Amino acid sequence: MNEDLNRVVSLLKESNYTVAFTGAGISVESGIPPFRGADGLWSKYNPEILELSYFYHNPAKSWKVIKEIFYDFFGEAKPNKAHLALAELEKRKILKSIVTQNIDNLHFDAGSDEVYEFHGNSRMLICEENHRFEANRFDLNNLPPMCPKCGKLLKPDFIFFGEGIPELAYRKTFEAAQKAQVVLVIGSTGEVYPAANMPREAKANGATIIEINPEKTLFSNSITDVFLQGKASEIMDEILIRLN
Ligand code: NAD
Repeated sequence: MNEDLNRVVSLLKESNYTVAFTGAGISVESGIPPFRGADGLWSKYNPEILELSYFYHNPAKSWKVIKEIFYDFFGEAKPNKAHLALAELEKRKILKSIVTQNIDNLHFDAGSDEVYEFHGNSRMLICEENHRFEANRFDLNNLPPMCPKCGKLLKPDFIFFGEGIPELAYRKTFEAAQKAQVVLVIGSTGEVYPAANMPREAKANGATIIEINPEKTLFSNSITDVFLQGKASEIMDEILIRLN
């Protein structure tokens, strides 16, 4: 581990273009469980609530669960040391950008600026006419929330199953995959596509892939060059100390 950490520090110092690619795992230590696995959200909830057609046919039913998971529960979460370390690396110009699959806003809360939210964000709501509002201006005890401008149903501004990736985030993500010399993959199983194409494309373009995760993933034995086994906050802390 010691040797691997030193190698990672050298890679970060030498790289002119480093991008972080984050998944649900980086927010686990902020108290947000991932979707998959024994303690994952899908062991407790039925993923159909996030299917677009189910949502439009059963808005109140879907919203009841969405509120519980993404607003009552996510709403309390604070960035952890791993989010803060990435924000610090951006300030020190060691990190160019973050591509995140997360919808919890914790990278922005931590102070990162260049963040591409591949799956959208839960802090905003959007209607079918594309009117967008901060979620916190609505009383979610009164469900489902309706658009104050056009009266149509509001949905969270993250993508549901069956929806396309937000255009700007998609373009920025794959531009980053073209330019990256190093990609820090943190807390992602690599099972969710097209997001998982990002580090794969970067690797095909010559980038070195550093992975941080307590468990091996689909990336580990295929594209990962350095695997740092452990929790995101602990490993990122070690990296920051060694960079000083
Ligand atoms: P995933 O749920 O498929 O996998 C999470 C990964 O995190 C696993 O590989 C796990 O071993 C790892 N992990 C667990 N604890 C960790 C820790 N302390 N430090 C580092 N890694 C840790 O996540 P995914 O691949 O990101 O895919 C699920 C999709 O669900 C994502 O695309 C995301 O949009 C969404 N999601 C988001 C959130 C969120 O916004 N916080 C939460 C759940 C799911």
